[in-house]
Amino acid sequence: MRRPFAVLTLVLLVAIALASAQQRDTGDMVARIRTEGLQRSNALTMYRTLTDDIGARLTGSPAHMQAARWAVDRFKEWGLINPRLEPYEFGRGWQLERVSVEMTEPRYNPLIAYPEAWSPSTAGVISGRVIYVGDKTGAQIQAMATQLRGAIVLTHLPVTDFVTRDRPQPALDERPVATGNPSLPQPRSTTPATELAPLLVKMGAAVAVRPSAYRDGTVGVTGNRATASDAVPSIVVAGEQYNVLARLAAQGRPVSLRVELRTRYFEEDRNSYNVLTEIPGQDPALRDQVVLVGAHLDSWHTASGATDNADGTVAVMEAMRIIRALGVAPRRTIRAALWSGEEQGLLGARAYVTQHFNTPASRDQLAVYLNDDPGGGKTLGFYMEGNKAAKAVFDRWLTPLKDLGATRNIIESIGSTDHVPFNEAGLPGFNVIKEFGAYDERTRHTNADYPDRTREDALKQSAIFMATFAWQAAMHEETMQRPASARQAPK
Ligand SMILES: [Zn+2]
Repeated sequence: MRRPFAVLTLVLLVAIALASAQQRDTGDMVARIRTEGLQRSNALTMYRTLTDDIGARLTGSPAHMQAARWAVDRFKEWGLINPRLEPYEFGRGWQLERVSVEMTEPRYNPLIAYPEAWSPSTAGVISGRVIYVGDKTGAQIQAMATQLRGAIVLTHLPVTDFVTRDRPQPALDERPVATGNPSLPQPRSTTPATELAPLLVKMGAAVAVRPSAYRDGTVGVTGNRATASDAVPSIVVAGEQYNVLARLAAQGRPVSLRVELRTRYFEEDRNSYNVLTEIPGQDPALRDQVVLVGAHLDSWHTASGATDNADGTVAVMEAMRIIRALGVAPRRTIRAALWSGEEQGLLGARAYVTQHFNTPASRDQLAVYLNDDPGGGKTLGFYMEGNKAAKAVFDRWLTPLKDLGATRNIIESIGSTDHVPFNEAGLPGFNVIKEFGAYDERTRHTNADYPDRTREDALKQSAIFMATFAWQAAMHEETMQRPASARQAPK
């Protein structure tokens, strides 16, 4: 009677001791991560390199490759394991080499203008009267064939509905808010763009000029990597400036522009590359499981890709540096991924999920994916994608970060970034909630996405936040709850 009881007591005591030691270790690690992240931060230096030294990092451009190689070099320097570039097929690359758009009649005025990515060049410098077709139907445009040959064409109506605000900020209080990308006002044209573009090619227009719907000289520009080499070169002008041109031209007043656009395609390597590296796990039972932290390294081409998404990249890189610098061994493997092709449809993350999580056994090895994307300020918490069990765990992990500005996790989801392909494959992927600042209203996908919008303390805080969650996830006893869709699906 006494012996089994003694053994049981001993086993229980050992278990309690181990559990509380682990608890203490985790608490201790949270404090050490914070000290390393606050006192020896590399975050601002890396942010400056990505935004000032390298600048815009369009997928397929030499600048994106420069950034990817730079990240590999940092990972090597810190002693992370197997820093590498992983290829996937992307298509041809593109780079802006020169753009100049000036109004020369009725007076001189330089215009704030950028081409859409993958636009072809103009045939040298194009000077001449603009042809305004913003208020014309397809049939009316057909009838203007002779005027449109070699012409500078204003394709849209003047902008009346400007982008004036951000999406609502989640996680400030208990109230639920609408999450995800807001639907922003778009410039309008009488003939839809899908009908207009082939018409202008057929008519031999020299260049198409359209407005941005952002305010005060801010120009929002993206682009389509499937753009044909013989497409009409496409330029976006600041909304208020376009409105001057379009209003005058619509009244039949003479308006002339001088336009030069020089772009370059890169056909040789049709791959793009994700950057990967890891800190190996040490627990024999768990080390094959992976806690993945990631952010997209690529950006659009008009500014420095600062809030979208150098800040997220820095959070992930600095989180890895911090954990490595502490010289501690996680139970699970912690891996970092810097995706490319996010802006063209989450392509890098999608390719990675397809390449690495294509069997039930491989999917079981992903413990959790933590992504850092939209927003430009501090990290407040995570969007929990409707996963209540995971939220209970994340809520515990968030508590010690509250005095650094974390507020709460929310049960709602967010779409349109790199955790989505993980969720679609039935894997638990979550994105951070960040302070938006002027993200939608000013910086996202615009010529105003410069680093000045994000403060150093926010960069440091986001890195500490990511490092803490990565560490907790790597040490966690249980398996993270899979998304509801995966739990229902038959295996
Ligand atoms: Zn973006």
